[in-house]
Amino acid sequence: MRRNILMFGPPGSGKGTQAARIAQRRGLVHISTGDILRDAVAAGTKMGLQVKAIIERGDLVTDELMFGLVKERLRQADTLEGFLLDGFPRTVNQAEGLLALLSMAGRQLDVVLLLDVDDDELVRRAVARGRADDDEGTIRHRLNVYREQTEPVLEALAGRVGIEKIGGVGDLDSITGSIELVLDAADTSQE
Ligand code: AMP
Repeated sequence: MRRNILMFGPPGSGKGTQAARIAQRRGLVHISTGDILRDAVAAGTKMGLQVKAIIERGDLVTDELMFGLVKERLRQADTLEGFLLDGFPRTVNQAEGLLALLSMAGRQLDVVLLLDVDDDELVRRAVARGRADDDEGTIRHRLNVYREQTEPVLEALAGRVGIEKIGGVGDLDSITGSIELVLDAADTSQE
């Protein structure tokens, strides 16, 4: 079974929505770093105050802070049955940290799911979503950050973890269905 999954894709690709669905269907712990940060901002914690402006600009929070958060979460026993990471890693540094952390614990990443959506569709969706970090200028900036800092993660992982590309345009149910097919096929070929 593909149990430790990484959901990857540009901002607005629907990775959060699909990650929640897949985690629920497969009984995996859904770890969304964006949600953790937004909760901290909403609660007004010290970390929330530190990251608020960074998120609103569409920039990345430091690797150190992010890695600390994920390390803490993965230390909890519920993740041993399988986890779905959504929004992390976003830099090559974070990816290397994650692989090292998992391998030290005798764990591994089983598969990377890449949700593929073109830029114009991403901007259209983000504007419609209306989140504070989703005005058109900010979303274009977030896309640039994705291309420059996050996409290289795929090259870093290639050859070490299987990467499965999934078309991210269409209705939600059919995209979830495509992901399930990919995961089922991967499980079968592994047996
Ligand atoms: P998301 O909901 O995944 O789009 O994340 C929203 C925002 O949170 C991002 O635009 C970043 O500012 C911040 N963020 C989330 N995850 C990370 C990460 N792994 N590294 C750095 N910043 C992150």
